[in-house]
Amino acid sequence: MNKIMVRCPSCLDERNIESVLTAQSNQNVIYECPNCRYVAKNIQTSKG
Ligand SMILES: [Zn+2]
Repeated sequence: MNKIMVRCPSCLDERNIESVLTAQSNQNVIYECPNCRYVAKNIQTSKG
């Protein structure tokens, strides 16, 4: 199992992607940093 790490652009804290990304029902993905509470919506994924 690969652990994909994502670095917060605000505080540069690294987290497992599964712990900071939330998939919405409309297929949007929201990134939320648990450290500084930075939130980024509509993150583009490599899918499709
Ligand atoms: Zn952060």
